[in-house]
Amino acid sequence: MISRRTALIAGGAGVAVVGGGAGAIAVANREKPEPPSPPSTRDGKVLWRNWSGIQHSYPAQRLAPKDEGELAAAIKAAPAPVRVVGSGHSFTGLIPTDGTLVTLDGMSGITGWDGDKAQVMAGTRLGALGPALAEKGRAMANLPDINKQSLGGALGTATHGTGRTLKAVHGDVTALTLVTAEGKVIEADARRRPDVLAAAQVSLGALGVITRATLNTTINRRLKRQVWVEPLEESLAKAEERWARHRNFEFYAVPFTGLAANITHDETDEAATVRTPSQDDAFLEVLRSLRNLLGFSTGMRKAAAKALLGSVEPETAVDEGWKLLSTERPVRFNEMEYHLPAEVHLKVLAEVVALIEKERPDVFFPIEARRVAPDDAWLSPFQGGERGSIAVHAHYKDDYRLLFELVEPVFLRNGGRPHWGKLHSLKAPQLAALYPRWGEFLEVRRELDPDGRLLNPYLKALFGVG
Ligand SMILES: Cc1cc2nc3c(=O)[nH]c(=O)nc-3n(C[C@H](O)[C@H](O)[C@H](O)COP(=O)(O)OP(=O)(O)OC[C@H]3O[C@@H](n4cnc5c(N)ncnc54)[C@H](O)[C@@H]3O)c2cc1C
Repeated sequence: MISRRTALIAGGAGVAVVGGGAGAIAVANREKPEPPSPPSTRDGKVLWRNWSGIQHSYPAQRLAPKDEGELAAAIKAAPAPVRVVGSGHSFTGLIPTDGTLVTLDGMSGITGWDGDKAQVMAGTRLGALGPALAEKGRAMANLPDINKQSLGGALGTATHGTGRTLKAVHGDVTALTLVTAEGKVIEADARRRPDVLAAAQVSLGALGVITRATLNTTINRRLKRQVWVEPLEESLAKAEERWARHRNFEFYAVPFTGLAANITHDETDEAATVRTPSQDDAFLEVLRSLRNLLGFSTGMRKAAAKALLGSVEPETAVDEGWKLLSTERPVRFNEMEYHLPAEVHLKVLAEVVALIEKERPDVFFPIEARRVAPDDAWLSPFQGGERGSIAVHAHYKDDYRLLFELVEPVFLRNGGRPHWGKLHSLKAPQLAALYPRWGEFLEVRRELDPDGRLLNPYLKALFGVG
């Protein structure tokens, strides 16, 4: 066995050799040109762009309030559409506006405690919340793959991690403060406006600006992470048992290799280990090189990728959960993720992998499978029962239409609900059929934003307005 780092370097060298011998093989990737987006317009409006670069706009006005009073006063007269942004990590058209862009970067941090519940400003980045909670010996129960999101943004799209008993971030919200487009400040909890709480927990910035939320927290425990590679067949066969047994479990099916990378996290009393920086991105770059060099020759590519992955040594790391659960993702991508009923989760994953391997040799990103516990928020994709998530990625320079043409129909046929922040094609009629509380959400939306000042064209189509 060789170490993961050595494997990657050796794999890279192997690629060079194979590539040199395969000079006649055409590059198979389908790169698309970057859309031009100048940093500012002639009349001085500054570009806003999302993380992956596929969404952009030039807002006429930007608001960066320091407190609720300032926000409430300014938002009333702000040019519409008024859109609130977190850290711009969503892929869908939730944010673009030529009206007003609101950022809560100036409203961040923990403002108080109610027992073990933390009152947190919505502009707080999840990465900053971890150490702030840890000072009190507390932690968020779970975290997504990265921690760059703002709390408001994470709530906005039902951001989640993995774990059969662990809810998405909004599932731990017990109260919140909302500033409407008309400048009203609403306190919502189980007693005061429970309807607004249930609607606003996942609300795409379409009810108003959430300025703070009260969050359940858990004891800040050390977790042990284990990462290993095995045949995909084995991961599929053992996944249910692993979701039942481990605090967190997820796996990544690597197309064209028949292999999967598995990751578990469990509570431990073992001492923290010294960790080397994650090699995941180097790994992705190697897979991309393999795709570019050998895309049309899937046999050779399969052999090279298999050799690379097969030599990866299992990894173990121990640290506090907030330091381990999220990692870095410097390789940019576009993504579609659907949340499926748990009983069809693995069947759909196997179907998607087979379809990609049959139809699209240019895909190289691993396909991610996670589990999420149910909750009651009206627009939560996890409302009504445990869901299994499947995420398919395309490198940011690649054409991502395959996600809509090839993969989305499989998700839809199987009762999937889309991640609100990731690519999907659904509009009001389909969403109404997927969400039993859709009508009630729209009623609360109309009450809080009667003139539709929070709706950009994307949201109008989503909600079937105008
Ligand atoms: C590299 C990468 C990794 C990711 N990993 C995961 C993952 O593991 N799990 C997962 O579920 N998702 C994941 N995502 C998706 C991401 O978590 C969501 O798109 C999330 O909403 C982004 O947070 P943000 O702060 O950037 O919000 P933005 O994208 O800026 O906004 C998202 C939505 O929230 C609304 N919003 C923002 N702030 C507020 C507020 N204060 N009040 C009301 N509404 C508000 C916005 O209007 C918008 O509708 C990932 C995305 C990327 C790019």
